[in-house]
Amino acid sequence: MDKFHYTSYAQEVIFGAGSLKQLSEAVERFGYQRFMLCTNHSMRVAGHVDSVETILGERLVAVFDQVHPHVQDIQVNELFAIADEKNADAFIGMGGGSPIGMAKAVAAMLEKKRTDQSNSLASSIEQAAFPVLAIPSTYAGSEMTPVYGVTHTNENPPRKVTVSNPRSIPKLVLYDPELTVGLPPEMTASTGINALAHCIEALYSIKRNPMSTAVATSGVRHITNALLRCYQDGNDLDARTEMLLGSHLGGLSLASVTMGLHHGLCHILGGSAGVPHGIANSIILPYAIRFNADVVAPQLLPAAEAMGIPVNRISPMIAVEAMVQKIFHLIGQMNLPQRLRDSGAGLQESDLARLAQLGYQNRTVQNNPKPVTAVSQIEKLLREAW
Ligand code: NAD
Repeated sequence: MDKFHYTSYAQEVIFGAGSLKQLSEAVERFGYQRFMLCTNHSMRVAGHVDSVETILGERLVAVFDQVHPHVQDIQVNELFAIADEKNADAFIGMGGGSPIGMAKAVAAMLEKKRTDQSNSLASSIEQAAFPVLAIPSTYAGSEMTPVYGVTHTNENPPRKVTVSNPRSIPKLVLYDPELTVGLPPEMTASTGINALAHCIEALYSIKRNPMSTAVATSGVRHITNALLRCYQDGNDLDARTEMLLGSHLGGLSLASVTMGLHHGLCHILGGSAGVPHGIANSIILPYAIRFNADVVAPQLLPAAEAMGIPVNRISPMIAVEAMVQKIFHLIGQMNLPQRLRDSGAGLQESDLARLAQLGYQNRTVQNNPKPVTAVSQIEKLLREAW
């Protein structure tokens, strides 16, 4: 790594059990007065929406608590109309990656309407006209990145289009492990594997840099320590805290690199086949690592070591295969689906060729460290995972 280039972002991060109570004081410093909250029903049921309503009082001018997975364009338009009408000046995404992505998408749309700024020309030092604040309740990591995906529902099949805009980076991120205590076991497990996948793809990214490598390695260590414990006892606040730390590090490493084959395929499986993002991650990750292993094994050694594999005594390829076996084992222990046929999204084996074609055209897939030069390579991987 004797040449690198990366962007880091100005964000205020508050981490710790009970930190939701600091929201009022934190937003005071930013000076925004008209917040819109984008969230989902589970946050309402758990009482967290009520807490935000109480904390922000009249500063909360709109609440939308029905955000669907995969940020559908129809809902983006619906929320944009509400935000515009209520004259919102800042957006809070609370929940998983979908509400946080929704907050980013609506803020960007409002900015475009009010200021006519183009996303593609944004530089890392520009301030958002309509800032995003994020309060994550899963391990998806979106809170640390300037990226969001919007699913274009009028295409056939629907397609998730990813946008990267430095102005979309959440300015304030409030991590309260107490919000994750109610995260059901399957969501805990699958979004936890998503966090692990951020660390792993950051380690072998074509844009890897000293910061992303250090942060991702630490993320793997914390996730390895904590994920199974969270799955086995969701009320274990120590495990929840360590796992949220691991996902924070996964998100931070993700923010300064580009992902590869694994994430590109997960976006295709989510946007075009309706597979939940975490489930797609759990099924694809071991196969994507195997696909890349002959090119990236040395870069994955810190992750293998963080997972307890004695890397000094074996070859990098053997260490990486041992890591793949550990990941398969962890996924099995958490009862996650391990095959595309069991994804729950109704996929048929006959869909794989079409998904491979879409995968081949995907920009993230094309950023994979091992070049993907033929559709057949992706189809083979999908068939292995079938
Ligand atoms: P999600 O936000 O779609 O949520 C899935 C389900 O989890 C919902 O039904 C929700 O109600 C439930 N849920 C969330 N938190 C809960 C809690 N604490 N208790 C009970 N239920 C809870 O899922 P996700 O996996 O967090 O996010 C996936 C989305 O985020 C995808 O669209 C993905 O593309 C995107 N993503 C973006 C980035 C990025 O860098 N921008 C990173 C990761 C994921």
